[in-house]
Amino acid sequence: MKHVPPLVHHRVEVLDLHAHLFSVTLTVAQPEALQQLQLPVWIPGSYLVREFSKQVMQVQAFQQGRAVRVTQQDKATWVVSCAHSQELTVQYTVHAHDASVRTAWLDAQRGFFNPTSLCMQVMGQTHLPQTMDIPSVEACPHWRLATALTPVKTNAAGFGTYLATDYDELADSPVEMADFWSGQFLAKGVPHRVVVTGAAPSFDGDKLLADMKAICETEINFWHGRTKPAHDHYLFLISAVADGYGGLEHRFSTALICKREDLPRVGALSHGDGYVGLLGLISHEYFHTWNVKRLRPSALAPYNYGQENYTDLLWFFEGFTSYYDDVLLCRAELISPATYLKLLTKTINQVWQTPGRKVHTAAQASFEAWTKYYRADANTPNLTVSYYTKGALIGLCLDLSLRQSGYSLDEVMRALWKRCKAGPMTEHDLLAVLKDITGRSWQREIHAWVHGTAELPVMALLQAQGVSVQQEAASLAQQLGLRVQENHAVQIQTVLNGSPAHSAGFAPGDEWLGVELLALRKHTAQAWRLKKLDQLPLLMGTAKQCTALVSRDGQLLRLNLRLPAKPLTQWRLGLSNPVTVGQWLAGR
Ligand SMILES: [Zn+2]
Repeated sequence: MKHVPPLVHHRVEVLDLHAHLFSVTLTVAQPEALQQLQLPVWIPGSYLVREFSKQVMQVQAFQQGRAVRVTQQDKATWVVSCAHSQELTVQYTVHAHDASVRTAWLDAQRGFFNPTSLCMQVMGQTHLPQTMDIPSVEACPHWRLATALTPVKTNAAGFGTYLATDYDELADSPVEMADFWSGQFLAKGVPHRVVVTGAAPSFDGDKLLADMKAICETEINFWHGRTKPAHDHYLFLISAVADGYGGLEHRFSTALICKREDLPRVGALSHGDGYVGLLGLISHEYFHTWNVKRLRPSALAPYNYGQENYTDLLWFFEGFTSYYDDVLLCRAELISPATYLKLLTKTINQVWQTPGRKVHTAAQASFEAWTKYYRADANTPNLTVSYYTKGALIGLCLDLSLRQSGYSLDEVMRALWKRCKAGPMTEHDLLAVLKDITGRSWQREIHAWVHGTAELPVMALLQAQGVSVQQEAASLAQQLGLRVQENHAVQIQTVLNGSPAHSAGFAPGDEWLGVELLALRKHTAQAWRLKKLDQLPLLMGTAKQCTALVSRDGQLLRLNLRLPAKPLTQWRLGLSNPVTVGQWLAGR
């Protein structure tokens, strides 16, 4: 059979390591006379318009070696005036210096990119197969390359030509280039590769691989039991840095960022909370392989890369994934039920300490993710609630309610996968599956929990499952209703609505300099400097009231701060019936 070159070809080269520049050459075999080219404004999985085109420079186009006219139509779209169906070459440069998993990075240590940052869509031809050629980097002879794309012609280090079935697959396949650590394992017969860039010399790769294998096998088991999963290969790209945490899911891979110190270390007898956090992140992003990358909101099928894509289902796709990430760590026997309850305690307290839960539903929070969750500011906790944490608690409530009647959320997830054929889904599908499995409508619960702002029945459901709920004093900042930063002074970041700080008149941006109190056994006021919030109990003792001395816009203000008569509490969960808790967390 004659080899037919692809109609759309992207060549990505390192142009200047120290100026952080990639050079991209796009070849279109059969362009339109007015060919539109467009760079995405967002990357699926991260619901924020990021305007990747702001890093693009010097767009030029050529046909038969001669320059043709390129006009920029809007912030992310270019139109080339060219001869129809005659090979078109477009060249441009992209600046890459964002270490997050959502964009692109290039320096002498490492290259990383999501094609959403570098590769333009050839409008009208995004459904066609696309090839991407990445030549090796002369200045970095030890670099290797890793991506989940299908290799067509590559060298031993992984540089060369890759194939994507369409633009979606290209956009969904991040690329890592570095002198990285690489390992692999089989999970239920599926090859998984793990690439770690930036690890310290103490990094214990074998320990990480063993734990990741346990997670992947548990999750494949969760969705498929004995049958084969929908993916036949998978790649984890982990970037270890001095400080950072996060991940982005893709169909055949995920890009993660973690603290170097959170990776497991050779010879360590135990691993701390940081490592549990990393395993939770791995578990979360891998669960997305099913829940959001295949089973996904119908509003995101297909993705529109040119603007916001609205869905009110992120409480399901992010929230239920957040519910299962730690549950499945427990099921994989990587954490104990007691550790699981500690993590759950944190999630519950976060939701209870967010006043926005009383004014914004989980469905609304999903819909407005683009402007509220992803553009958080000082007032965000007052006007929205995280669809991750509240969504996780909705998942918990649903699972525990189902378990009371002999069913489980596990069955519901698997039934949804079947009903929606591992594709687009709506809230109606969830309700239909719940009714199919249990024989009754769950409209009332879903309506109240997802589309309402009343408190979730977390306590009663946990207690019925054998979890004890105790109250303990909340932190001082929480008592006051403040989120602060403490650099030489107490800087007010956020004032929670309904709190003592709110009543006193604190505002974000205030600098809390000191307090004025009536001196003991004297009737004169004394003023004290405050450098840290923790000094307040020392100064106030049992007093319930003080005058806060605050600097705002060059003025000094005196605010009357009254503490509540009864201190604010937060939850602490414990095991009251290890058998029933064990059954729940083991998925029995
Ligand atoms: Zn997620």
